[in-house]
Amino acid sequence: MTITIKNETEIRLMEEAGQVVALAHSRIERAIAPGISTADLDDIARETLEDAGAVSSFLGYHGFPAHICTSVNDEIVHGIPGRRLLREGDIISVDVGAILAGYHGDSAWTYGVGQISDKAAELLRDTEAALYLAVEAATAGNRLGAIGHAVETFAKRQGRGVVQNYGGHGIGRQMHEDPHVPNQGRPDRGVALRSGLTLAIEPMLTLGSEDTRTLRDGWTVVTDDGSLAAHFEHTVAVGPEGGRVLTRRLAPVLE
Ligand code: MG
Ligand code: MG
Repeated sequence: MTITIKNETEIRLMEEAGQVVALAHSRIERAIAPGISTADLDDIARETLEDAGAVSSFLGYHGFPAHICTSVNDEIVHGIPGRRLLREGDIISVDVGAILAGYHGDSAWTYGVGQISDKAAELLRDTEAALYLAVEAATAGNRLGAIGHAVETFAKRQGRGVVQNYGGHGIGRQMHEDPHVPNQGRPDRGVALRSGLTLAIEPMLTLGSEDTRTLRDGWTVVTDDGSLAAHFEHTVAVGPEGGRVLTRRLAPVLE
């Protein structure tokens, strides 16, 4: 395992990549409505990244054919944008990764389309809350397991499923660096967290199963029982008092 610690200059560069990711998210969020296609959202991301001089982390990654991942309802991660039209009541997880000046930012968010059910809204709230608890646990001196422990204990208390086969990762000059960041675990296990370790933390919670299967497109990961799934992710730098979020959400952009 090779863990790279970033200096302040590198963290600032990652934050700049993170701001491009956040800008793409805020534009996508405003566009999400019944009748828009997931390919339309991919176009918004492509234009935003292009304008910023950034490149998608995902396009061409092991052959992935789009700029972002769009995962609807029971789809958890790695959905491919296409002709699918969003419908009132859907939830859609949008994962955006961007490379700027050689550094990656990576952030996912699940959005409601129009009016969503109370159950779906609770799942979104719980997954976002789990993310911020995990970000808090990304504190120098903790062990890596503290992050997954924070996700798992909160999710279980809320009665949510924690997707078992996927998790977060180190990030920097590569989209996926060591260590793997599980969404479950014990706080006394795993490598010691040091300031300057940069991680993508990404809880994936469901209203049912913790097990997954991959669709025939070879990418889209779904819950094996068809239950709804949500995915929230930030890129953070481990710090003395929790993770410093490098992909912080922007206020609504007026343009
Ligand atoms: Mg991501
Ligand atoms: Mg990620």
